Amino acid sequence: MTDNSMTDNSMTDNSMTDNFESVDKKTTANKQSEENELDDNESISKQLNSSATSSQDSPNLKHLKDLSTESEQIIKDAMLNCIDPLTGCNLVSLGIIESVDIHMGMAKVAIILPCQPEIYSNTSQLEEAVVGQLKSTGIVNKVTFSYSTMTESEKDAYVLHLETTYQSKNQLKDSTRIIAVSSGKGGVGKSSVSVNLAIGLSQLKYRVGLLDADVYGFSVPNMLGPNSEPVIIGNSVIPARSYNVNFVSAGLFANDDQPIIWRGPMLHKALEQFLSNVMWCEPDFLVVDMPPGTGDVALSIASLIPDAEFYVVTTPQKSAESVAQRSALAAKQLKLPVRGIIENMSYFKGDDNKIYELFGSGGGKQLADNLNVKLLGQIPLEVDLRSGSDSGTPILISHPESSASMAIKQIVESIVKLGPAKKRLGALKIK
Ligand code: ADP
Repeated sequence: MTDNSMTDNSMTDNSMTDNFESVDKKTTANKQSEENELDDNESISKQLNSSATSSQDSPNLKHLKDLSTESEQIIKDAMLNCIDPLTGCNLVSLGIIESVDIHMGMAKVAIILPCQPEIYSNTSQLEEAVVGQLKSTGIVNKVTFSYSTMTESEKDAYVLHLETTYQSKNQLKDSTRIIAVSSGKGGVGKSSVSVNLAIGLSQLKYRVGLLDADVYGFSVPNMLGPNSEPVIIGNSVIPARSYNVNFVSAGLFANDDQPIIWRGPMLHKALEQFLSNVMWCEPDFLVVDMPPGTGDVALSIASLIPDAEFYVVTTPQKSAESVAQRSALAAKQLKLPVRGIIENMSYFKGDDNKIYELFGSGGGKQLADNLNVKLLGQIPLEVDLRSGSDSGTPILISHPESSASMAIKQIVESIVKLGPAKKRLGALKIK
């Protein structure tokens, strides 16, 4: 056996936290020192894991002064749509919105944070979520905020809510569509497509998770902005979050320059933990950036998430198409439905407005015909797509009107329109 000690340690360990802590934490320039961070995580865990006493499932709103019953209901409904930027969960159910006081179109919102402000450092996103919802009612035109910190028992309720509602239950609801993005080989733009599909779905107001299952060649953290961090609470992980997408990647738990040597059962275990220990908060879609080719991960995905739908990314080249076909056929052999082909790097439009087919043409269509599925779209080569990936601002955010963005949006709409694939009866499920 050639596996190193990291493999052995992790295989005997059931805790995701321990498993990930066996890999050095990634260091980023604008982050606290590694030591401080581990201290923080420990104390967060301690604080959040103190014994839970009560659950907080009902809206925690009060002081809705001067409102008709109808307006009060509109405000309550709006508050139920306020999503916590950190956990992706509902802010009212988490008990984070303590009260809303509305008078003459002015809302005073009392926020009560569960633990050290550090893990809610980005309160501007939290405020945006609340302001957006309140203003959308047409009843409120100004919002102010006050902050306090939860008492121990309120914290307990917060943790209980997170753990009972989102962890011990199946993290993925029955209707969560799992969009596995695969390719025959690396470098065809599979991760870029995964990230932008996830953002595109979230822009359509779906709740979206993105699992970077490309454990050896992870690039999702860089593409979604390097500043977002997952938070470890006990044995659970609150995913990192950027552009309204909750995401987890092995890259968030490893040093940039450190190879990850996971294979066979360990890889399976890591994926299982990514699926079951991460608080995905019941997303509508879970996009999975698959590793290129066929192999262990495809097998694991097949057993762990048997309802995954496969979408294959290829370039227009004939040689790429035949390699991509192998990954599609492997999925089919595993009884995972291949639902569509996405052609990337289809053409380049020069300053002279001429179309240059740098990688030939027809590969995507050919593959779709061979597999009897639809070619869902053709994404052009664009410098902004590449630079956006490098800088952590995906093209759907940086250049939403570009041809590449338009092609991606069209693909997103096609995926939504396709609807869920047929469920496989008797399939295994992660609980
Ligand atoms: P894969 O996941 O298949 O290995 P990536 O998504 O990492 O591929 O893409 C490989 C490189 O190609 C990245 O630098 C990415 O920014 C770039 N890239 C992908 N698609 C395009 C495109 N349509 N136009 C320009 N650059 C692209």
